[in-house]
Amino acid sequence: CTSGKAHEAEDNIKVIIRCRPINEMEKKQGSQTVVAIKEDGELVVHRKTKDGKKLSKEFTFDAVYGPTSLQKDIFTFSIRSLVDAALDGYNATIFAYGQTGSGKSFTMMGNEKDEDLRGVIPRTFQHIFDYKSVADESEEYLFRASYIELYGDNIYDLLIKRGKREEKQSLKLREHPEKGVYIENVTLTPIRSEEEVPELLEIGGSNRTVASTQMNDVSSRSHSIFQLHLEVSKKYDDGSEHIRVGKLNLVDLAGSETLKKTKATGQRQKEGIEINKSLSTLCRVIRNLNEGLTHIPYRESNLTRLLQDSIGGNSKTVMIANISPASFNIDETIETLRYAKRAK
Ligand code: ADP
Repeated sequence: CTSGKAHEAEDNIKVIIRCRPINEMEKKQGSQTVVAIKEDGELVVHRKTKDGKKLSKEFTFDAVYGPTSLQKDIFTFSIRSLVDAALDGYNATIFAYGQTGSGKSFTMMGNEKDEDLRGVIPRTFQHIFDYKSVADESEEYLFRASYIELYGDNIYDLLIKRGKREEKQSLKLREHPEKGVYIENVTLTPIRSEEEVPELLEIGGSNRTVASTQMNDVSSRSHSIFQLHLEVSKKYDDGSEHIRVGKLNLVDLAGSETLKKTKATGQRQKEGIEINKSLSTLCRVIRNLNEGLTHIPYRESNLTRLLQDSIGGNSKTVMIANISPASFNIDETIETLRYAKRAK
C-alpha cells in the first residue's frame, strides 16, 4: 500500500469492471473481441498500433466481471454488502459508469420481468423485503424511495404521478444545517411490500422515457439517481426505542463518451461541459478519498453535492465501470478503464 493511503477509505470504496457480451451489430461491423480476463482476474485489452504491432494493456481492479457474468453474481458479490450496510443505518452509493450502450442500465435495472435478468435495483428491493420478512418482531420498517434525473443544472422528479409528467419543473437543491444537502419537494414514496415495486419502477421508467423523447435522448446525457431511505426502529424491553436510517443511492451516470471534446454547439455543448464537470469531479472526489486527502471537492458539481453524505466517511461506495469487448469501441473502453483507474 502506498504511503498516505487511507485504509478505511480503501475498504469503503471499490471500483469494479463489467464487460458485456459482444452484440450482433458489433459483429456485423466486423468487430473483434479485444478484451480478455485472465484467470487471476486481470483485465487485458489487446490493441493494434497504426503500423500493425500488437499491444496489450493490463489493468487490475477490485473485481472484474466478464461477458458471461450473471446479474445475480454482481449483486451477491459486489452489491449486497452495501444494501446490508444501509439496513444497518449507513449510507451507501452504487454508480454505473461507461459509454452509452455499455450496459449501465442493464446492470442497474436490467429486465425486471425476467428473474434472471433483474438488475441491481429490483434485486435490492427483493433483498430488503426478504430481510424484513425474517426480522425480529421488535423492529419496524419504513422503506421510502425517490427517483430523480439530473440534467445539466436541473433536477427532475421521476416519481411524479401520471398526468403530471408534462410539468417538467426543476426541483431545487437546498442545504440544511442538520439535514445537509437535500432536494426540496422531491417525491418520497413509501414502499410497503414487494408487490408495489413494479409500479414504482414503471412510473420512474416511463417518466425517464418521456423526458428522453421530448428532449432528444436525454437519458444518455443525464444522471439518474434512485435513492432508498431505509428506516428501522427497534423497541427495547425497557420501553426505549432506537431508530436507524440508512440511505442507498443507485446511480446510472450519463454516458461517458461526452467526456471527450465534442464539436457540439449551443445546448449540447453546455450539456457536454456540465457532464464533463460532474464526471470528472466524481472521479476526483473518489480519488482524494482513497488517497486520504482532506480536501474533497464535493461542492464542484451538483451530483457530488447531492451525494456528499453518501460517499466518503463511513459510507460505502462501489463504482461499476461498464465496457464493451468490441474493437469498434476500443477507444471508449480504454477511456473508461483509465477513468476507473484514476478513481482508485
Ligand atoms: P447503457 O445503459 O450503458 O446505455 P444498456 O444497459 O442499455 O447500456 O445496454 C445496451 C444493450 O446491451 C442493451 O440491449 C442491453 O440489454 C445489452 N446488454 C448490456 N449489458 C449486457 C449483459 N451483461 N448481458 C447481456 N446483454 C447486455
